[in-house]
Amino acid sequence: MEWLARSRFEVIPLSEAVQYLADGKKPTRPVVAITFDDGYRSLIDHALPQLEAHGFSATVFLVTGCMGGRSKWVERDFPELFELDQDQQNDQKRLIQAARVAFKERIPYFYKLPNNQLESIARQTLNMAQLPLLSWDDARMMMLRGIDFGAHTVTHPFLPTLSKDAAVKEITESRSHIEEQLNTTVKAFCYPYGALDEQLKQLTEEAGFTSAFSTDPGINSGCNPTPFSMKRVSIHEGTSFLRFRFYLSMLYPWYLQCRTIIRC
Ligand SMILES: [Zn+2]
Repeated sequence: MEWLARSRFEVIPLSEAVQYLADGKKPTRPVVAITFDDGYRSLIDHALPQLEAHGFSATVFLVTGCMGGRSKWVERDFPELFELDQDQQNDQKRLIQAARVAFKERIPYFYKLPNNQLESIARQTLNMAQLPLLSWDDARMMMLRGIDFGAHTVTHPFLPTLSKDAAVKEITESRSHIEEQLNTTVKAFCYPYGALDEQLKQLTEEAGFTSAFSTDPGINSGCNPTPFSMKRVSIHEGTSFLRFRFYLSMLYPWYLQCRTIIRC
């Protein structure tokens, strides 16, 4: 955050960044919008003071059926990892084997990672189970301190595996929950696990959102075909400061383009 405050970037609210793209306007300085997924309670102690210190806004995507509870969807969605006992979790080979099964259908991007990275993600996934989440009162307090909120479904499912009706319910109800509880307008949606398809993009648009966010890595620019599959740069506990700087360097868009060409 300190580096960002001194950088060439301007940190602006997500809604303003989306508006730049919608209007096809180029900002005078490159802009960054900060987002957090799931609404973990640790945001209050770790993120909020830093954001406030630098006058940054951020958008938190909430799982509205779990407010004030815990991130119980992690255990539900990756049972292969949680079926392992402590000894099996400590056994690198066994953990990687279980992770390949757990991620194969649902997060193919993880499935293809080399063993060392997959192990790290499997351990992070185990650590993410049952983390405390913000309550509605917490969210109201954060709103007064400059944070805004987007929808991230009611129960954090893999949306592409649901029926159309069930997906519509997850998408629309998460929005109305936030609007009712926080007396605000919600325009941004975030797909759980970044899992989306053409139908979901359409459903999100029909639900009245003006943008929806994936976990596909990249920079959003005027040539994005739709605001319903917005890219993001993922920063997590394993991201080194050097890598963070690389993501925000001029090289990163070139790197992504080369990677796409090589894959083609
Ligand atoms: Zn999530």
